[in-house]
Amino acid sequence: MADTSRLRHFKDAADYAKNFIIQGEIDKYLPGGRHFIDDALITKLIAEMDSTSADPARVREIIAKSEETCETLLPEETAELMKVTDPGLFEEMRAAADRIKHKVYDNRIVMFAPLYMSNLCVNGCKYCGFREGNSLQKRRVLTMDELKEEIDVLAGRIGHKRLIAVYGEHPSTSTEYIAETIETCYARQVAAPRTGAKVGIRRVNVNAAPLPVEDLKVLRSVGIGTFQVFQETYNRKLYEQMHPAWSVKGNYDWRTTCFHRCLEAGVDDVGLGVLYGLCDWRYELLATILHARDLERWFNIGPHTLSFPRLEPASGTRVPEESPWLIDDATFARILVIARLSVPYTGMIVTARESPASRNKVLDHGMTQLDCSSNIAIKGYSDFESEAHQEKERQQFLLGDNRSIDEMVRYLASRGIITSFCTAGYRCGRTGGCIMDALKTGREGKFCKINAVLTFREWLDDFASDETRKIGDALIDKELAAIKEWLPKFFPSVMKQYEATCRGERDLFF
Ligand code: SAM
Ligand code: SF4
Repeated sequence: MADTSRLRHFKDAADYAKNFIIQGEIDKYLPGGRHFIDDALITKLIAEMDSTSADPARVREIIAKSEETCETLLPEETAELMKVTDPGLFEEMRAAADRIKHKVYDNRIVMFAPLYMSNLCVNGCKYCGFREGNSLQKRRVLTMDELKEEIDVLAGRIGHKRLIAVYGEHPSTSTEYIAETIETCYARQVAAPRTGAKVGIRRVNVNAAPLPVEDLKVLRSVGIGTFQVFQETYNRKLYEQMHPAWSVKGNYDWRTTCFHRCLEAGVDDVGLGVLYGLCDWRYELLATILHARDLERWFNIGPHTLSFPRLEPASGTRVPEESPWLIDDATFARILVIARLSVPYTGMIVTARESPASRNKVLDHGMTQLDCSSNIAIKGYSDFESEAHQEKERQQFLLGDNRSIDEMVRYLASRGIITSFCTAGYRCGRTGGCIMDALKTGREGKFCKINAVLTFREWLDDFASDETRKIGDALIDKELAAIKEWLPKFFPSVMKQYEATCRGERDLFF
């Protein structure tokens, strides 16, 4: 177990909401009281967008800069891209976004699964079914034994290697609890159905509330992957409307500075996100750029990932249906393209909240990660056979894409995309600043192809249906040929590991 001696304990939820925040850890990153989310600048850029149209020559210059340098754009440049309405010019942007994705991440899509640990919460977010006081919600915190049952399904039956563990904000799911769940996930090993090989979870990313530096160090010590916190909305006024002042989440500055604390604590893969639909998407994306740039300025590390959740219907609230800022599928696709061009090196996650049609469409819009065979009910994976799959009162919202992992892997392979189960990065120290340069120059993308092939081979042998294995095998042959051409001298070492994997050895990586 982690050393939790430094952790503060709270009498109850009210005590927690009042005493959790450490003001000094906010002030440090807002020198002179100036916030890096420059509301005046964003408002000015949006006003300009509304009154002028895009200059195609300038737009093409910005596309070229993004593609060549892979550096985060200036907010003014992102704003210029946002002005584009001409379908032909937008198609040029989309094609460039796809090329950048290939330069940085090759033809891989990384696979993960969400795992909800608890739905107890001290906060009152008006759009969320988990909010305090929603009596419709059935509350639950997974015990370690229940968690093991969840892992048995996720790792042993579906074949996942990478999780995003999700927690409500509550004293019962303190840092101590989060650390224990991470350790439990890593420790569990199960036999794969087809080969009997020992398989388990190799990377646990966390989506939880902002934490103080000392708590983040505890999560680092147990091997957290990415720490993901969605800002919901960067617009302070709307943020305050959605998050009551009495709640710990009501503190905008505590949330906006959380990744600065992560990087200070050495948790250097940070996952940013906005809950699209709460505010004008242009405001959110421009603010995301300002956030990324401020992290780069302080730490020389930007977002490891960006997520693009859209507001979904949830139990006991009408906000998701009634918000004036809901976005349609075409706007969603546009957001992804502009995000890829604006933060070219980052991973981009599109979850099963989206419909199958929406996810299929945006596969060539710069995205890099998706989830499948997902269940977001608490204990949803192991209770799947005994209870209703989608039950609003046991989960945060309803999922849009219920395709199985086998179906999705097959679909991706049919489009020439390899599903990667690779988790080598953080275990080899390729995180944060170490990986930024490799990503920007395209080195990481090619290098990861090898690990993608090895982990894809594992998954095909351990879990795939015959039909999926057939199409997967053909894709692997193509990938190996590409690696041979790219790295002729190194290729024999790759084949050595590949053949060992075929013989049943597991978790081999470069
Ligand atoms: N409690 C932590 C927090 O709020 O940061 C983390 C867990 S919370 C369940 C994870 C995310 O779910 C939130 O950050 C929010 O963006 C998202 N969420 C909440 N209600 C939602 C809804 N109705 N539709 C889509 N996403 C929602
Ligand atoms: Fe709690 Fe997070 Fe839901 Fe807000 S979004 S009510 S903090 S679980």
